[in-house]
Amino acid sequence: MSSRYELLHHRSRTIKQIAKQNGFAFAGIAKARRLDEHEKSLKSYLEQQHHGQMHYMENHFEKRLDPRVLHPGTKSVISLLYNYYPESFYESEAPVKITRYALGKDYHFVVKNRMREMVKEMQQQLGEFSYRVFVDSAPVLERAWAREAGLGWIGKNTMLINPKQGSFFFLAEILADMELAYDKPMQKDFCGNCRRCIDACPTDALKPYKIDASRCISYLTIENKNEQIPEEFREQYQKWIFGCDICQEVCPWNRFSITHQEPEFEPHEKLLSLSKQQWQELTREEYQQLFKKSTVKRAKFEGLKRNIHFLNENNQSL
Ligand code: SF4
Ligand code: SF4
Repeated sequence: MSSRYELLHHRSRTIKQIAKQNGFAFAGIAKARRLDEHEKSLKSYLEQQHHGQMHYMENHFEKRLDPRVLHPGTKSVISLLYNYYPESFYESEAPVKITRYALGKDYHFVVKNRMREMVKEMQQQLGEFSYRVFVDSAPVLERAWAREAGLGWIGKNTMLINPKQGSFFFLAEILADMELAYDKPMQKDFCGNCRRCIDACPTDALKPYKIDASRCISYLTIENKNEQIPEEFREQYQKWIFGCDICQEVCPWNRFSITHQEPEFEPHEKLLSLSKQQWQELTREEYQQLFKKSTVKRAKFEGLKRNIHFLNENNQSL
């Protein structure tokens, strides 16, 4: 065995240990390259306007396909999964629901802080290197990289599914100008004949392996900045006022989900138990308290009120 081989494997093992110590459930490593096979689908997704008002997705086309353009010198993509599956969630009779990933402090800060710690330790143990970190960030094809790094397959619900723990994860990446030993991409798709996610999606946003974001409740409750929600979605929102977890809840692989260990993701003590009336009468001050440092702020107070009002009008729960 050459010493170079040993060096690269030593680096990769060290990085995976450091990832574990910093709370990441899984880490995989892929060689940086242009993801040519995604060019066609990315183009057609944008051409068909499936990204709705998320115009930032149209930018940096080449950077999205090739991490070496995004961060010159990149040799390796370290792909990381951070668990957000909560211990408790809304009861079925709760008047509204907020997606599991948004119950606690904004994951962008939490996961980025963990990554910064991780990089610090990597540099202490492996020496200086140039890097950039990303969490749920538009210029990186995160799911493709996680698959490439052997962390799972992309399911028919378009989520990255890890065969050991399902899909309730944040995806994050470190682009590093350091050569490493690489994992094998996951070639298999374990969705088989299942189509539970497609059948369960209330707005018909899903086709196998494709999502029309402009029909997805998650997009409609968060990214959509229009004052009104399109009439055609009347009665399809179920109870979601921020995000939607339905296509993950029904996925059989999520029976392997385990509770996260991140104190920062604990929800405000009142968030899961507010009454119908309290949601209807939510004031700006209460909103500030409930969602201090939360990713729910992305929808803004007006957006959240619009979503609550929409449920109310449709008498779906409120
Ligand atoms: S998040 Fe909800 S609305 Fe969006 S695709 Fe999944 S089930 Fe459909
Ligand atoms: S619900 Fe079934 S088809 Fe959908 S992602 Fe999960 S395993 Fe695949």
